[in-house]
Amino acid sequence: MIYRPGRIFLSVPQMGGHEKNYVQKAIEDNWVTTAGPNLPGFEHDICQHTNARHAVALSSGTAAIHLALRLVGISAGDEVLCSTFTFVASANPILYLGASPVFIESEAETWNMCPDTLRSAVEDRLNQGKKPAAILLVHLYGMPAKLKEIMAVADEFGIPVIEDAAEALGSRYGGHQVGTFGRIGVFSFNGNKIITTSGGGAIITAEEDLANKAKFLSTQAKDPAPYYQHSEMGYNYRLSNISAGIGRGQMEMLEVRVKQRREIFNYYRNQLESIEGIEFVAEPKTSFANRWLTTILLPEGHKPESIRQALEDENIETRFLWKPMHLQPLFASNLYFGDGLSERLFNCGLCLPSSSSLQEEDLEKVVKNLKKLLEVV
Ligand SMILES: *Cc1c(COP(=O)(O)O)cnc(C)c1O
Repeated sequence: MIYRPGRIFLSVPQMGGHEKNYVQKAIEDNWVTTAGPNLPGFEHDICQHTNARHAVALSSGTAAIHLALRLVGISAGDEVLCSTFTFVASANPILYLGASPVFIESEAETWNMCPDTLRSAVEDRLNQGKKPAAILLVHLYGMPAKLKEIMAVADEFGIPVIEDAAEALGSRYGGHQVGTFGRIGVFSFNGNKIITTSGGGAIITAEEDLANKAKFLSTQAKDPAPYYQHSEMGYNYRLSNISAGIGRGQMEMLEVRVKQRREIFNYYRNQLESIEGIEFVAEPKTSFANRWLTTILLPEGHKPESIRQALEDENIETRFLWKPMHLQPLFASNLYFGDGLSERLFNCGLCLPSSSSLQEEDLEKVVKNLKKLLEVV
């Protein structure tokens, strides 16, 4: 990535201030490893905020998805119904287990998994004698998916749900935090997310045995013996106590960060919605979005790449929307159910700078340039 001073970034970390106290204490007490008091501390904070019963802190969101799939019993040859409109890290862990993703298109209101398409896909796979082994749904850009309708399909057919809430920590649906609807919810604390541990992730669940199993598998699945004995395949996926210390400081600021990101979204919308043809994703009545990234659909006649390049020349970072998984060469041979909505969004959408640390003058600069490029004065 090109760095020039004064660059306006898409999404960068913002420290709250207390992170270094937790990290310093960990160093003083020599808890510089994947055990130590910041881990249960951070997990407690996650549970407090989400109202989840159990949380397990892990080394990344991708690792968390991999473990979640393993915990609900996914194995080689299984099919997992997965949102197509997402980042590749949602789908890669399905491949790690030798299973196949079957991609489900979005609906237009939230851009997330369409419950009707999901139902058609389940029925189709059942007709083929292949019962889907799990549903992996994503809350993209922090906007909650249509959970009520999706959970109804999942419950009707008895299919476990994993929520990829990597981008959606702090978002709510029907008053409840996302990640608490499925059997397992996943968060990411990568540097570009709403809060960060520099790199990290977590799962949340209501089931104590799943949480215990996650701790066991994420620390090499060591049997209770005085020597190193293993009956199951494990992973080295535990978060470090240093990273968890950063996480504890960050959790103190989560609500403020959500407020800041929502204010950024409102600013862009107020300034830009008068441009003919521009579109923002509205928040349905059921939902409260953390607005991790503000996304827009460009008016007809404008291409994301030319706008992105022109803003780049002004030292402003913007990005394409995620390229749907069913269009990725990696997944060329996987099944897809849908009507192409995400491809149309990909072809006319853009993510705007949304860092919580953005200053008013930064936002004014982005808006001024966008108005110029979309030719309104
Ligand atoms: C960031 C992200 C992940 C992966 O999280 P990491 O911590 O980067 O491994 C998974 N799914 C989605 C939708 C993401 O945005």
